[in-house]
Amino acid sequence: MSDRGLLLVLSGPSGAGKGTAVRRLLELCDNIVLSISATTRPPREGEGPGHYDFLPQDEFLRRIEAGRMLEHAVYNGQYYGTPAAWVDEQLAAGRHVLLEIEMQGALQIRQRRPEAILMFMAPPSMQALEQRLRGRGTETEQQIQARLAIARGELAGAAQYDYILVNRTVEGAAEQMCAILTAERHRASAMEPFLQALQQERN
Ligand code: 5GP
Repeated sequence: MSDRGLLLVLSGPSGAGKGTAVRRLLELCDNIVLSISATTRPPREGEGPGHYDFLPQDEFLRRIEAGRMLEHAVYNGQYYGTPAAWVDEQLAAGRHVLLEIEMQGALQIRQRRPEAILMFMAPPSMQALEQRLRGRGTETEQQIQARLAIARGELAGAAQYDYILVNRTVEGAAEQMCAILTAERHRASAMEPFLQALQQERN
């Protein structure tokens, strides 16, 4: 089997339930780690270094210049980016790495790492998405409408991904991701090193 881990990307509208599904995936599926992004946005209440690497903008820009970001994007006026060195260390150590990032970043990954597997998490319906956004109770009506409009735009880009997940339940969505990972590990291209080892084995 290939010694190198697989690079997985997950995007989807805010309220689709990516965060909870990812937490369940990490429990369910072996040998997978979640990348911690850098961002210039200020921490929300309860957020610490485990959520993001919170950086001042000048430091973030220096890291882009130095080629230390595998991808980066501006979202809602703030920079977000994936640390290249950490991701590559994990992949080289044989761990699968999951990036939970928005669409512009996902499409940069597609360009730079064509072998990456892009997954898009959709809600079962727009009505369900709206209910989830309202259920959080953290946003005004105007903010909810704005997020729904952004979500419609994101759905229009979903066809560029390799897989579409439908988040009806947390368990179901985590299982779908795990199944994709298993299938991708068994692609003929991913199994090439294993096949080579078999051929070289002496009888
Ligand atoms: P939030 O501020 O709500 O934590 O994240 C806003 C958006 O930024 C989400 O869609 C999240 O997936 C995305 N995001 C988080 N980290 C990164 C990253 O490293 N790169 C990119 N391109 N997007 C990210």
